Amino acid sequence: TPAARDRLRIAIQKSGRLAEPARSLLASCGLSWRESRDRLFCYGETLPVDLLLVRDDDIPGLIAEGVCDLGIVGRNVLVEQDLDAQAAGRGARLREWRPLGFGACRLALAVPEGWAWHEPSQLAGRRIATSYPQLLTRWLADNCVEARVVVLSGSVEIAPRLGQADAVCDLVSSGTTLAANQLKPVLTLLESEAVLAGPAADLDDVRGELAQLLLRRLDGATRIRHSKLLMFQATRQLLPQLLPLLPDADAPTVMQVDGEDRLALQALCHGALTWQRLEDLRRAGARGLMVLPVEGMLA
Ligand code: ATP
Ligand code: MG
Repeated sequence: TPAARDRLRIAIQKSGRLAEPARSLLASCGLSWRESRDRLFCYGETLPVDLLLVRDDDIPGLIAEGVCDLGIVGRNVLVEQDLDAQAAGRGARLREWRPLGFGACRLALAVPEGWAWHEPSQLAGRRIATSYPQLLTRWLADNCVEARVVVLSGSVEIAPRLGQADAVCDLVSSGTTLAANQLKPVLTLLESEAVLAGPAADLDDVRGELAQLLLRRLDGATRIRHSKLLMFQATRQLLPQLLPLLPDADAPTVMQVDGEDRLALQALCHGALTWQRLEDLRRAGARGLMVLPVEGMLA
């Protein structure tokens, strides 16, 4: 069991795709840090929450060993390493605490553009290059396909051109890298994004309380990322027409303006409030429509 500590330690990527968004998400939760000279450790100033800056591949291991309490890492890395631990006879040690809404990509199977793709059985006897052997092996087993898994740590997408493999299983976001290598994605093995990873069990001691505080703030930050406050006025009779136009809104706050009839409403909307939607609301009788940004939220 990890040694008792009175500060929470979070591992994040030192540099790369998740580094900056992870830090700004944590900063939006009110954390700030003093950086060590070697830029590996950030000492929490506003709260006793420190950061360790590492390679993303090291993050699950650091949590499993108790060196860090939490980490921000791609689901692809978390699941792959968890399957690896299970294959080695170590049980599920980690779990995904929260999806974080950035770093979206998918682990996709891609084949040469010239292939006419119909079904997984076409991969029988073929060589598939990947950096995610556990995820690929599981998928092959689930689909009863016997293929050879060629493990490469990088530059997976050029393997077919080099004659090292017939197909690849790699991370894709826009698909331009695949296209540049005359490959086309045909199947998705895993939808991924950055996640907050932590131990399977809750943390105890003071770190548990710090983690709960951080989760509350993260949930608030995640909820407001696409949320806007919509304010408008309408007469009471029009509410049955207006409220169905706000399916993505929390139950609105309704205030009486004067007399019986005029109401002022405010609703937190979680979808996009386009001009089109505002026009629709206006046509249904809403007046004085106003859209406001949300700065903070705590449930
Ligand atoms: P490190 O030096 O920390 O090991 P890395 O090269 O392994 O870095 P990055 O390329 O920075 O990692 O990617 C980190 C994560 O970003 C991936 O594991 C994945 O979850 C996510 N990601 C989002 N889009 C893509 C993409 N198009 N290609 C690869 N990863 C992506
Ligand atoms: Mg890496």
